[in-house]
Amino acid sequence: MARPVRFNIKQKDTSDWGINIASAPQGHMGEGFFATSLDKVVGLARKNSIWPLPFATSCCGIEFMATMGSHYDLARFGSERVGFSPRQCDLLMVMGTIAKKMGPVVKQVYLQMAEPRWVLAVGACASSGGIFDTYSVLQGIDQVVPVDVYVPGCPPRPEAIIDGVLKIQELVHNESLRRRNSDKYKLLLESYGIQ
Ligand code: SF4
Repeated sequence: MARPVRFNIKQKDTSDWGINIASAPQGHMGEGFFATSLDKVVGLARKNSIWPLPFATSCCGIEFMATMGSHYDLARFGSERVGFSPRQCDLLMVMGTIAKKMGPVVKQVYLQMAEPRWVLAVGACASSGGIFDTYSVLQGIDQVVPVDVYVPGCPPRPEAIIDGVLKIQELVHNESLRRRNSDKYKLLLESYGIQ
């Protein structure tokens, strides 16, 4: 007996599927001109073209795979270009348990990334060591690199990871172009032994 066909037998109504484009930054508009500040334009471009570097060591990395899959689709936020070359990426996503031995490796990867760079600690392990309060596990990656956003959960659901990426987008969008040259930022890096 033939199997009943259950899927894709009805045409989907795609009439209201629009392409969402990023909204224009705040500025002044008149007939034939639009003026805004460089910060806002650069922030808009950076925000919507984040290249993540997934540093996945354990289970949270599996959640990230789901986040990249077609159902959750991180590509919707301009982040589909996942790279494993630190020099080309601007968002370090640390996902999983980081043993103390791995700490210097995380730091080295961070150092190889060019400024401006951001860091997302995904899950309890990366954020605080999680359930592994042991001699061998780093109790949070903020002991070796500065972290911009923490995503709670063990593991965090893909929605939570996406929420973390959106928070990073907010930071990226609103960051002053001068922040990386500020004394405060230099002091922050110095506190991590980074010149
Ligand atoms: S936070 Fe939980 S799910 Fe994520 S790496 Fe640690 S133990 Fe695994």
